[in-house]
Amino acid sequence: APQEQEGPRRHVTLDQRALTVARAAKGFMPDDEGLALHRAGQAAAALGPLLEIGSYCGKSAVYLGTAARAAGTVLFTVDHHHGSEENQAGWEHHDPEVVDPRTGRMDTLPFLRRTLEDAGLEADVIAVVGDSPTVARHWATRVGLLFIDGGHAEDVAMADYESWSPFVLPGGLLAIHDVFEDAADGGQAPFHVWQRAVADGFTAGATTGSLRVLHRP
Ligand code: SAH
Ligand code: MG
Repeated sequence: APQEQEGPRRHVTLDQRALTVARAAKGFMPDDEGLALHRAGQAAAALGPLLEIGSYCGKSAVYLGTAARAAGTVLFTVDHHHGSEENQAGWEHHDPEVVDPRTGRMDTLPFLRRTLEDAGLEADVIAVVGDSPTVARHWATRVGLLFIDGGHAEDVAMADYESWSPFVLPGGLLAIHDVFEDAADGGQAPFHVWQRAVADGFTAGATTGSLRVLHRP
């Protein structure tokens, strides 16, 4: 099984240009969690491509995409780009800059494309634009790592887990973002997904902030 790499050489595949772009991109991933995600990607990319649910503006895709590139594979990143419930106007995580003035709806796809272009990752990160469970119903590619960071409503997060977790290769990794064990710290759906994954036989691994990595035996 792949080990998450520690020590001074751990960042060598995340070049300064990409790191600067990741840090500047709009999104919801602190740098220490992004670097932990990058290390998980490094550990898993030898097995197969990486897959992210929830691209938003591409911040986490840079941490994962650089790991995929270094191993000669790719990151697929899935999003319908119209935002989760919690990203809509009036909610805590709303950013009016990502609203398309033509429709009044969120559209983060142009921001994702800019982030990937600025990071030099256009050849290594493949944007899949669509509803996550719908894409999953037509998907066939097994992956080295699955990162779940889409909608955080209970039914949405669990649907992502149920739709995509069967594609994680034996020995591969499952990463879940925004896992808060205490309801005072945040929504519980990602924690419930983590508990479900453990019940299904994934082995709990490293925790960095709200990022939890599990191993598929
Ligand atoms: N990983 C990003 C943040 C993702 S925010 C980062 O670290 O910066 C969550 C994203 O999930 C939003 O962009 C939203 O559009 C997407 N999303 C929510 N429900 C979805 C669904 N059913 N299908 C596809 N994407 C969805
Ligand atoms: Mg998140």
